[in-house]
Amino acid sequence: MPASEAKRVGVIGAGMVGVCTASWLQRDGHSVFLVEMGQPGHGASFGNAGCFNGSSVTPISMPGVIRNVPRWLFDPVGPLSLRWSYLPAIAPWLVRFMRAGTREKVHAQARALRPLVGPTREALAPLVSAAGANDLVHRLGHLYVYRSVQSLEKDRLAWELRRENGVEVDEFDADELRQLEPALSRDYVCGVLVRENGHTPNPLKLVERLLGHFLRSGGKIMQARAHGFRLEGRRLAAIQTDTGDLPADAAVICTGAYSKPLAVALGDWVPLETERGYHLMISDPESMPRIPTADADGKFVATPMETGLRFAGTVELAGLAAPPDWRRARILLAQGRKMLPGLAASHPEERISVWMGHRPSLPDSLPVLGRSQASPDVIYAFGHGHVGMTAAPMTGKIVADLVAGRPPAIDIAPFAAGRFG
Ligand SMILES: Cc1cc2nc3c(=O)[nH]c(=O)nc-3n(C[C@H](O)[C@H](O)[C@H](O)COP(=O)(O)OP(=O)(O)OC[C@H]3O[C@@H](n4cnc5c(N)ncnc54)[C@H](O)[C@@H]3O)c2cc1C
Repeated sequence: MPASEAKRVGVIGAGMVGVCTASWLQRDGHSVFLVEMGQPGHGASFGNAGCFNGSSVTPISMPGVIRNVPRWLFDPVGPLSLRWSYLPAIAPWLVRFMRAGTREKVHAQARALRPLVGPTREALAPLVSAAGANDLVHRLGHLYVYRSVQSLEKDRLAWELRRENGVEVDEFDADELRQLEPALSRDYVCGVLVRENGHTPNPLKLVERLLGHFLRSGGKIMQARAHGFRLEGRRLAAIQTDTGDLPADAAVICTGAYSKPLAVALGDWVPLETERGYHLMISDPESMPRIPTADADGKFVATPMETGLRFAGTVELAGLAAPPDWRRARILLAQGRKMLPGLAASHPEERISVWMGHRPSLPDSLPVLGRSQASPDVIYAFGHGHVGMTAAPMTGKIVADLVAGRPPAIDIAPFAAGRFG
């Protein structure tokens, strides 16, 4: 639906969230420019597992998660690691994280997330079709596999949250699992398939394809680092950058894990942290699952990509500045070989590539989405944590609603920046 009044809108950050947002705003008839300090699509949107999981309504902090934390932290191949020197800096976030994981709160968080992530395919489809990128989005489902009935039982609440939010699942026993994914280890005794989920075989290419269409349709991209906003009263006059002021009627902050200083510049403090994650890829793998497959105990995903097999996952708490610890990526290889016994026991280094990226995470696993305190013209759209690829298309639609002055398609009250007050 065209906007009643075309505006000049600056979208800061050209990751999946920024590019989807810019595309939805452009479809509304606005004159839109992106502001990107690095290379478009090379942030967290580059190396993720590529999954569009509308079923991902389960917060990371769940009741009982705290009981697992010490075991994970002291397990060198566990899914969570913490640089101890970073503990003082992250301690307040960890306290909020633990407090977010009560039974009552996780039901509310899941209810808030479902309308944002559930319609991902419907919200992405028009952008993908227009950009000629249908080959970059598959809908084959997502498989979760378990090594014991007990570990499935431990995930009971997560499945309850998904089911009560309308996610339909199919459960498979060991024999059925073997037929579904013959490449998987016989150690897995059961699996759960979510058919509504999809994935991209190349997240970077998808962002670039969407961006290409945005630029061909008259959008612009500026290479600059945004650091603030020039306001006249409560109205936005310009985005301030290291290359000068960029006049704009509206601005959207889609800067992922780097968003905190921009929110602070507008008087909103948010406990945004980076949950650093890794991937390891094998080109020409000897074995590969047909669809993205999550090892529920190891908390990593194996995704069949265009360029090989990607193992992605793990959480490292060490801030934005610390250099990557590539041992975290290597752990994924060891675990991946256990998942897919058809993989070779060793691979030449030229067939292996590794990556680290910054998930932008709030302690309650909900993003910050809505207007800033200082100006109705500056809109937040960051902090999508583990589900930013999935949530990006609907986030873009909601921002377009806000800029046009339409009531947003879903309830965004749970995503308010002020909830941490
Ligand atoms: C290992 C791993 C696996 C994952 N798997 C999945 C998955 O399967 N499915 C899923 O939905 N999500 C997944 N995620 C999460 C997902 O990748 C992120 O939530 C998502 O990519 C965030 O997108 P974004 O556009 O907000 O941030 P980014 O992609 O990081 O983009 C932010 C952009 O803003 C730019 N920027 C920052 N500050 C400024 C500034 N001041 N001025 C100008 N530009 C600026 C940056 O250069 C960057 O390009 C995964 C993440 C990791 C780490």
